[in-house]
Amino acid sequence: MLIIGPPGSGKGTQAERISERLGVVAISTGDIFRANVKGGTPLGIEAKKYMDVGDFVPDSVTNEMVRSRLSQDDVENGFLLDGYPRTAAQVDYLDGVLARRGQQLDVVLQLTADDDELVRRLLGRARETGRSDDNEAVIRHRLDLYHEQTEKVVAKYAEGGILTQVDGIGGIDEVTDRVMAAIAAPRIASLASGR
Ligand code: AMP
Repeated sequence: MLIIGPPGSGKGTQAERISERLGVVAISTGDIFRANVKGGTPLGIEAKKYMDVGDFVPDSVTNEMVRSRLSQDDVENGFLLDGYPRTAAQVDYLDGVLARRGQQLDVVLQLTADDDELVRRLLGRARETGRSDDNEAVIRHRLDLYHEQTEKVVAKYAEGGILTQVDGIGGIDEVTDRVMAAIAAPRIASLASGR
């Protein structure tokens, strides 16, 4: 499955909880980039240029990183991608990777929240964690990119009939309850159809 949402919508937090409850691995492209930045790897040095200003890391770099991660053994029983795909080109690339593996997506979960709430949360996170891409100008740019590019991704999955939307405003446990209820129905449907 995929979890998609604007920056600050709580994707990472909810992804960890879904991963624990469903027993599938959560893969966050943002976390992999941050680990590489921290480790000073060539990938991290390249990615940091884009992350610091709130731009997307180029598709070619991101796609290859995801392909490599999905070639590891722990994804065999399913996986949850957090923060990927974010562009139409990434959707096409992922479709190709999954088709070659004989896999398909069961559910795409979108967490929703309005921009003012997101900016408020992200500025709070900036004070707590000191993430370098959590200042107001960069936050606004990341939100713009989400509206311009990632909402098209969401629309594509809506057309495919696998999109489930969940309101991301509220307490963390409350949102987790909504998420688990929302994904239970598509999972049961997909199991029943033998997918
Ligand atoms: P996140 O933690 O998901 O908000 O991601 C942090 C940053 O990593 C983003 O602002 C981008 O610079 C980069 N990033 C994460 N996922 C992607 C992706 N799928 N495509 C391009 N850049 C990404």
